[in-house]
Amino acid sequence: MLTETEHVQADQAHLLHPLYHPSAHQGAKVWVEAKGAMVKDIAGNEYIDGLSALWNVNVGHGREELARAAYEQMTRMAYYSAYAGSTNPPAIQLAEKLSQIIYPSINTFFFTSGGAESTESSFKTARFFWKAAGKSDKVKFISRMKGYHGVTMAAMSATGLPTYWPMFEPRVPGFVHIESPYPYRFQNKTPELSDGVAAANLLEEAILREGPETVAAFIAEPVQGAGGVIVPQDDYFQRVRAICDQYEVLLISDEVITGFGRTGRWFGLEHYGVEPDIAQFAKGITSGYVPLGGIGVSDRIREAIESVPPEKRWMHAYTYSGHPTCCAVALANIAIIEREGLVERAAAMGDRLLAGLKELDELPSVGDVRGKGMMAAVELVADKAAKEPFPAAANMGARLGKELVKRGLYTRILGDTVLLAPPLITDEAMIDQIVQIVGESIAALG
Ligand code: PMP
Repeated sequence: MLTETEHVQADQAHLLHPLYHPSAHQGAKVWVEAKGAMVKDIAGNEYIDGLSALWNVNVGHGREELARAAYEQMTRMAYYSAYAGSTNPPAIQLAEKLSQIIYPSINTFFFTSGGAESTESSFKTARFFWKAAGKSDKVKFISRMKGYHGVTMAAMSATGLPTYWPMFEPRVPGFVHIESPYPYRFQNKTPELSDGVAAANLLEEAILREGPETVAAFIAEPVQGAGGVIVPQDDYFQRVRAICDQYEVLLISDEVITGFGRTGRWFGLEHYGVEPDIAQFAKGITSGYVPLGGIGVSDRIREAIESVPPEKRWMHAYTYSGHPTCCAVALANIAIIEREGLVERAAAMGDRLLAGLKELDELPSVGDVRGKGMMAAVELVADKAAKEPFPAAANMGARLGKELVKRGLYTRILGDTVLLAPPLITDEAMIDQIVQIVGESIAALG
């Protein structure tokens, strides 16, 4: 077998990776095994999987049941087209199952291979909907800074993390950003209103500025994930829904991270008592065992798709839409989530994680601790009272990352914010261990 170094050298000869730069890939880890909430590298080091890989391995690693579901489907029929005029039992069963667990007004599904394809599908469906309604000027999309929706051209244009833009610009026209509700740092310019309503009203301002007759949809993650686990104010999404209704703007809920139990509910907007017009998902639908994503559309949108003449059909497609093997794995994965009560478990373990992390508030550099269900973040600051970040030169995030790894926790750091989203099966002892490691690592930074 190749050594760790030989693997990395061979990798460097032939592979590009997401967010690639050679400087970011020097001591690349070669992951070889994973079980439950633990992952092991080729050198034999074991780590707690602090982010469920990439926010996706909700049921934990090493589930033979999912391998068996894939094996059984692959040996029966691995793949056949599901273009209009063709279908297959796993795709049908999965769509039926999703209609039972997702928002009541959403009963129709289209499958993709991942998050960004789902974003594209949502955008195209929103434009289609308005064209079918005779409002073909409604083509623009509003999204939020710190939002992440993938990095294909349109998804990148909606993503509100500017580091993703410069070397790929120009962005697709017709994409507009508003500020994130980011409770820790939100500056309310209308103090007579709550922060949540004030933050949501930025959407109204943007719609009026652009012209409501030109705006197709607003896309938002119920909890902003990659942008720093930003949990909105409790009244934010109610106001967003009202604004969308008032100006005839579709609400797209990007549930790629928040779907399938992550936040302690099946889907994220359930916390806020509102329903989107389109809900998009990926990641947790198969716990990452095979690639699958999709969108669910409201009955109103389904009717629009049915209403057009054949020459105006919904001409959107992916080869792997409704891939039978991926759908079979998704069904088995959802069965595990249900059988093991992982949605409720995420709520309970998430409360424990957040309560533990809140105790780190006493540390001088901990500015904000936030979370919902099994998503949490700790943001470090140089000056607590002024909420002033550390200078980039202090390299706090990277240093913190090293301290975490030293103590056996592998996760993502965004700037000076540590992001946590362990598998939903993580037990109490390991949750407490995560808290302890994060605390010790921050303290070690001095
Ligand atoms: N939307 C959200 C909310 C995400 O978190 C991600 C991935 N982190 C995406 C979309 C894009 O998914 P993918 O990487 O599968 O294209």
